[in-house]
Amino acid sequence: MAIQSLDALLNASSLAGKRVFVRADLNVPLSDGRIGDDSRIRASLPTLQRLVAADARIILASHLGRPKGQRNPALSLAPIALALQEALQVAHQEANTGDLNLKVHFVSNCIGDEVTKAVGDLGDGEILLLENLRFHAAETDNDPEFAKALARLADFYVNDAFGTAHRAHASTAGMVPYVHEVAAGLLLQRELDELETLRVPERPFVCFLGGAKVSDKLGVLEALIERADTIGVGGAMAYTFLAAMGEPVGRSLVELDRLDDANRMRARARERGCDLMLPTDHIVATRVEKGVPTQTMTTIPDDSMGVDIGPETAERYAAAALAARTILWNGPMGVFEIDAFSHGTERVARAIAASKARSIVGGGDSLAAVNKVGVAEDIDHLSTGGGASLEFVQGLTLPGVAALDRPR
Ligand code: ADP
Ligand code: MG
Repeated sequence: MAIQSLDALLNASSLAGKRVFVRADLNVPLSDGRIGDDSRIRASLPTLQRLVAADARIILASHLGRPKGQRNPALSLAPIALALQEALQVAHQEANTGDLNLKVHFVSNCIGDEVTKAVGDLGDGEILLLENLRFHAAETDNDPEFAKALARLADFYVNDAFGTAHRAHASTAGMVPYVHEVAAGLLLQRELDELETLRVPERPFVCFLGGAKVSDKLGVLEALIERADTIGVGGAMAYTFLAAMGEPVGRSLVELDRLDDANRMRARARERGCDLMLPTDHIVATRVEKGVPTQTMTTIPDDSMGVDIGPETAERYAAAALAARTILWNGPMGVFEIDAFSHGTERVARAIAASKARSIVGGGDSLAAVNKVGVAEDIDHLSTGGGASLEFVQGLTLPGVAALDRPR
């Protein structure tokens, strides 16, 4: 069993004039039809460029937001078709590979007669973007009839949507067995290759885990305790650990039903020799609100909450990052969206960027933090899939990846 790369597929078969279904992640932030951060569109370009150059007829599909099986004009992919055409043209001009009449067509459904006709009308090297897959509940239900209808559109299937690879949906898993030949797209492949290196990391392997909830990251914490040399815990998650130790946490965000889990994980880390670091000083405030007064404290008063790791903790975590050979970071160290609560996250981000370690950062908010601090260029790999990357790191099977695995 093996997963075929896009290059291997291109070497093995001529895709000229062939219908290739590409499942991409074009789930960009939209408001009033205007695209916010377009990094997901840009990330999908390399695979599309390769297929355009091979003269394939590309059927491109994605979800956008959570329409919950209802047609919702605010979540239409129509504006993405235009943005994609422009982005492809810019990329093409930059590559300076001569004149090319790039065409991105759009069809307002993803299955049915209208779609079949639009696919039939596609020229070689052209792209047809389908409407939001999740306008059909059958997509997330992984309905076999819907999956077969998608599969009938194409001869080849390429999955480039790492962000949804941990979901067994019709377009990521259900349709795959019904397509003649399949491959991993360039983005998906890169994610797998990068994250694979964490299975046998160079030591010291140092992880930073933060964010809002222990419950979100329980599985990954457990897995990393077995593998990492050091784990720096920050964010609200840290207060569940401190509360479990009987430390005063005031009104910090604590998950009372996770105290036993926190104690169990600390015990396991001690047993294994993994240094599970917790904050020893905190930025405290009475509310999570811009402009409220803050203080640096080692003990959180009853009426206050921890909103960021304190400077002493940040220095300790930064030193661990600088001494590391491999770093994984997921989850901000504090409520970084508010400038006064963002210094701990910023200090850790800068140390990860400055470290000689191979560094991987995953998670939507962590990526936003890296971009806010302006150190994205100095991180070795920014994982586009928060949930998918955490499940991969835990050693769980990603249905979207498993579906590509065929006897070869
Ligand atoms: P990611 O998207 O990188 O996986 P998460 O979604 O798990 O990260 O967590 C990010 C959220 O955690 C942010 O909205 C941040 O404000 C919040 N957060 C971090 N520290 C705290 C804290 N001390 N108290 C409350 N919320 C926090
Ligand atoms: Mg998040």
